[in-house]
Amino acid sequence: MKITIVGAAGGEVTGSAYYVQTKQASVLVDCGLFQGGRKSEALNRPPTGVKQKLDAVLITHGHLDHTGRLPLLARRGHMAPIYATPATIEMTALILRDSARIQAADAERRNRKRQRAGEPPQEPLYTPEHAEAAIQCLKPVPYQQPVTVAPGVQAIWAESGHMLGSASIQLLVEEGGKTKRIVFSGDLGPRSAPILKEFEPFSQADMVFLESTYGDHDHRPFAETVEEFVRVVQDAVERRGKILVPTFAVGRAQLLTSLLAWMVRKKKVRPFPMFLDSPMAIEATNIYLRHRELFDEAMTKFVAEKPLRADLKAMKLCVSAEDSMKINDVAGPCLVMAGAGMCNAGRILHHLKQNLWKPETHVLIVGYQSHESLGRRLVEGAKVVSIHGEKVAVAAEVHTMGGFSAHAGQTDLLKWFSSIAPSKPRVVLTHGEDKARAVLAKKIQQQFKLPSRLPKMGDVIEL
Ligand SMILES: [Zn+2]
Repeated sequence: MKITIVGAAGGEVTGSAYYVQTKQASVLVDCGLFQGGRKSEALNRPPTGVKQKLDAVLITHGHLDHTGRLPLLARRGHMAPIYATPATIEMTALILRDSARIQAADAERRNRKRQRAGEPPQEPLYTPEHAEAAIQCLKPVPYQQPVTVAPGVQAIWAESGHMLGSASIQLLVEEGGKTKRIVFSGDLGPRSAPILKEFEPFSQADMVFLESTYGDHDHRPFAETVEEFVRVVQDAVERRGKILVPTFAVGRAQLLTSLLAWMVRKKKVRPFPMFLDSPMAIEATNIYLRHRELFDEAMTKFVAEKPLRADLKAMKLCVSAEDSMKINDVAGPCLVMAGAGMCNAGRILHHLKQNLWKPETHVLIVGYQSHESLGRRLVEGAKVVSIHGEKVAVAAEVHTMGGFSAHAGQTDLLKWFSSIAPSKPRVVLTHGEDKARAVLAKKIQQQFKLPSRLPKMGDVIEL
């Protein structure tokens, strides 16, 4: 059997994809989009080497960097069943439709420029039709039950605590009368995060592919981050300022929404105007509420006690651009959650432009900010920024809240690995920048006496 690394390797964090081939079967595990700059995005092709007919695609979770190249498979005619948990199927459909819309809009903008330059138009990476074709192939699988996905290949999905429906996957591959176990961690969530259940590690593997996004450090404890969040909200409400939260539509938006409901219920803050200014985040929240079976005990109790809506009567859901624009007229205090999460596009830009220059404004950074993003400039303390070609002074207070991350820190990664370590697997570290991978490899060597391989893109691993 051989496994080709076709994404999220060589220091690259996005584009997750693994191509598993045996004598009788070929299976792809994840098929993510490369994101975060031109160099990465140039890699967005169907996974190389996938020539023969695919038997199946297995998805760990719905995030774009794990699903975003599925429409490219459809475009190439590589139609195969795509297996995922029911919640992941709903998230994947939401995310792929949005991605296809963005691809089309980007292509249109590029082509207007090309036309002015007398150059022929370029096609978008994929169209809504390709996304729909991929969505049609999605097939639900339960957690913790072996499913035959290809000749001689069974797969088991187990909770990974990273986003709604997320999973690690164990493959049981039979070849020449022997069964080999290969485990893909997928993205692992922090154990202390609310809403979702904790990850359930596998206990056996011949080979394990482990994510290493935060392999080099731990986040600030979640409870401390919540305390800071409460303080910032209370202060802004008192000073009648606006709180702007650039947020990714899936995951962070739901976490913050539930925290705000908790604050109101526990009377930590009196109800004040809040806006979920993102149609996609609104849709993702509905998917969360349809899958309460995936909530942890505390969240199950919290929503059973009283619906979130009862605490959040002051929260307005803004679907149209008009609704979004009206937030300008709201005199503080209020809280606005809007995309994009890295302030590189979307409705948040327009709220930042209107409010960054006011000292009573607070900006809460709750997710990863890439190097070239406006969000990173704010985190680094820029005094003046440019938004839509206009100079805007930054008088607002900017708070970075790393404790809200959806990824396990180093301690939790090692905790997950400790269940599987006694089976002495070969270890492959992916989905991390070089420094994070190197530090985690050293830790695994020290604690478990196991060497790790840090593959490059295109590496082929034989088993
Ligand atoms: Zn993810």
